[in-house]
Amino acid sequence: MQRRYYIHTFGCQMNESDSQRMGEALLRAGWQATEAADGADLVLVNTCAIREKAEDKLFSALGRYRLLKAQRGTRIGVAGCVAQQKKEALLHRAPFVDFVLGPDHLDKVPQLAEQGGIETDFIDSHEYLFPQADPETSRGRATAFVTAMKGCDNVCSFCVVPYTRGREVSRPDGEIVREVAALVAAGVREVTLIGQNVNSYAGGCTFAELIRRVASVPGILRIRFTTSHPMDLSPELVRCFSQVPQLMPHFHLPVQHGADSVLARMRRKYTIADYQRRIASLPPEVALTSDIICGFLGETEDEHRQNLEFLRCTPYDNLFSFLYSPRPHTGAILKMAEWGEVPREVALRRLEEVQSLQRARTLQRHRQRIGDRVEVLVEDRGFGRSRENWAVQFAGDAEVGDLVEVLVEKASPAALRGMQARVIDRAAAPATQQKRRLAVVSG
Ligand code: SF4
Repeated sequence: MQRRYYIHTFGCQMNESDSQRMGEALLRAGWQATEAADGADLVLVNTCAIREKAEDKLFSALGRYRLLKAQRGTRIGVAGCVAQQKKEALLHRAPFVDFVLGPDHLDKVPQLAEQGGIETDFIDSHEYLFPQADPETSRGRATAFVTAMKGCDNVCSFCVVPYTRGREVSRPDGEIVREVAALVAAGVREVTLIGQNVNSYAGGCTFAELIRRVASVPGILRIRFTTSHPMDLSPELVRCFSQVPQLMPHFHLPVQHGADSVLARMRRKYTIADYQRRIASLPPEVALTSDIICGFLGETEDEHRQNLEFLRCTPYDNLFSFLYSPRPHTGAILKMAEWGEVPREVALRRLEEVQSLQRARTLQRHRQRIGDRVEVLVEDRGFGRSRENWAVQFAGDAEVGDLVEVLVEKASPAALRGMQARVIDRAAAPATQQKRRLAVVSG
C-alpha cells in the first residue's frame, strides 16, 4: 500500500510554495497525499519564525502529532524557518521529531523521511538550484506561486528572515518563464512571483523586465508579485503597472511604521518622505497595501501618534498590522535594554487603534464599489479575487479559472459580495479535470 503524507503549513506564501515543492518531491518518491493528519504515515510541519506566536503554534501542533506517532507510528518532520533557526535544539525540545530540514533542502524530504536526520546548512548562492514546480499538481487551480528569488540582504533590526532564509539568490529568468509557461499549459491563469525581497530580483534581468517576459507567455491572464522593499521600487517597475496589461493593480509595499525615528531603529533605510515620494509615482488605480508593526522597542506615544497620522493620510487599501515580537538573532534584540520594551497592554491598545482606523477605511473603500461590476478570477466555487486582490464572494455557476464580472451588492471589511453578472472568459481546463491535488493546509 502507498504511504501517505500530510503537510501542515504555517506562515507566508514562500512557505506555501515550499510546501508544494516538498509535496511534489514526495509524490515523485511514490508517496500519496492525504487531506487529514490522522491517516498519514508522515506528517511534515512547515514552520514560520516571524513571530513568537507562530513558533508557539508549531509546538502545540507537534503535541497533537506526537499522539499520532504513539498510536500508529507516524513519522514527523519539521521544515521551514523554525527548523532553520533551531536546528538540533528543536530535537532537544521535541525528541519525537524524526527529521529537521531548512528551506534550502526541500528536495531531500523523501530521503530524510526514510532515514531521519538534520539538514539545515545553507547552500552557497552560486551552487543553489531552485526546486522546479511540477505543473501537474497545479492542474485545476486558477492561481500559482512561482519563486523568483529567495533570501534577503537587508538587515531590518526586527526581522529573523536573513538568518532563516540566508542571502539573496535570484532564479534565472529563463527558468521562471518556462515554469510559468508550463503552469499556463496546465490551466493556471494567474501567477504570483514571490521572494522575500522580490523587487531586488537580479536573475539575468531587472524585476521589471522579468514581469514583461512573464507577460509575454501566451495565455497568461494575470500577474502579481510579493513582497517588496520600498528602496527597490524602480521607475521601470512603476511603469509596468500602466504598460503591462497582465500586471494587476495591487502593490504590497510594507512601510512597517509611520515615524522616521522608529524606521531608523528598524534599519529600514528610508524616511517617510522617501516612501511617500515612491508611492506618489504609482498610477492612481493601484491598490496599495502594507505591513505595520505596533509596539516596536522604544516606541513612544508621540511616535505612535505619528504612525496614526501617516496612516490617516496614506490611502492604503488594506493593512496587515502586528504586535512587535522579539526574535532571536536580530539586531533589535541586542538593543532591547537600551531602547526598552513597550508594555504589552500599551502595544495592544496601539495595535487596536491602527486596526480600527484601517478597518473603517477598508470598509469605506469596499462600500464605494456597491453597484459596480468588478472583474473576478474564480479560485473556488463562488469565490475569487478582483484585479485589486479584494476577496469577492458571489452567487453564480462559474467554474474555477473562469474570469467573470460580479455585480457588487454588499461589502464588509473582509470581502465584497454579489451576483455573477456575466462570464468574460471561460477557463480552458475546469476544476473537474484536476488530477493530483496536493494536501497542503495552512494554519
Ligand atoms: S527586507 Fe527587512 S523585513 Fe523584509 S525580509 Fe528582509 S530583513 Fe526581513
